[in-house]
Amino acid sequence: MKYIIDHDYHIHSHRSLCSDDPLQTTQYILDYAEKNGLLDICLTDHFWDERIPGAENFDFYKEQNFEHLKQALPLPESKSVKFYFGCEAEMDKHMRLGISKERFEQFDFVIIPTTHLHMPSFTIDEADDSLERRAFLYAERLHKLLDMDLPFDKIGIAHLTCGLIANKQPADHIRVLELISDATFMTLFEKLADRKAGFELNFPIFRYDGEAIDQILRPYRIAKKCGCKFYLGSDAHHPGGLDTAITQFAAIIDALDLTESDKFTPFPRG
Ligand SMILES: [Zn+2]
Ligand SMILES: [Zn+2]
Repeated sequence: MKYIIDHDYHIHSHRSLCSDDPLQTTQYILDYAEKNGLLDICLTDHFWDERIPGAENFDFYKEQNFEHLKQALPLPESKSVKFYFGCEAEMDKHMRLGISKERFEQFDFVIIPTTHLHMPSFTIDEADDSLERRAFLYAERLHKLLDMDLPFDKIGIAHLTCGLIANKQPADHIRVLELISDATFMTLFEKLADRKAGFELNFPIFRYDGEAIDQILRPYRIAKKCGCKFYLGSDAHHPGGLDTAITQFAAIIDALDLTESDKFTPFPRG
């Protein structure tokens, strides 16, 4: 059976500093889910656990602590949609994960990106931020994360092909992906499948064409072969992102020919 669009596990509210959009309320997000017949959604505002050192001098994360995220609770309720409380955690340049064991218990779901390489000095060293270095870090950071002792059944690995991998020029992230061999992706994604973490489907599919789309789809195709399970994440920061999410999900599902057996399901159903 074809992969059904019935969830979205990567959504930001106005509380994420990079949203800061008064229209992006949790009620608006819930309405989006109801309108599109989704069964479960998860709020994933940006988060750095204040119990983990590292963000003292980095305002973006210093401010987005648990106290800040918690203001979203209680989440609005609906008869047809389950609204889960999660977060988008972070890994710094020392490959330190910005969420403690105890905090994992306070979230229903945690997404972790290893590809936020757009924060000089915090996630990447200014001294060497070449595309080659970024390709190396792509593999290194994901390996480090997957080698940690974490509750992977409630973890999604966020946007593994996102533009933030290298964002000085629009095509830079494609060039970084090109530098990563099939074999390297395979080793990474076999490990990801083994840990039973979720693999996020989240990229602006309509923005790519020609060779770029093949390069973007390559890691997902390899992940599918490795037995990874996929979840949908719009990464919407504004109502506009929610408005286009479903069309984008449908195109991604078609491009990868995904079925229900490819689905990552962290929450009980029914
Ligand atoms: Zn992100
Ligand atoms: Zn996000």
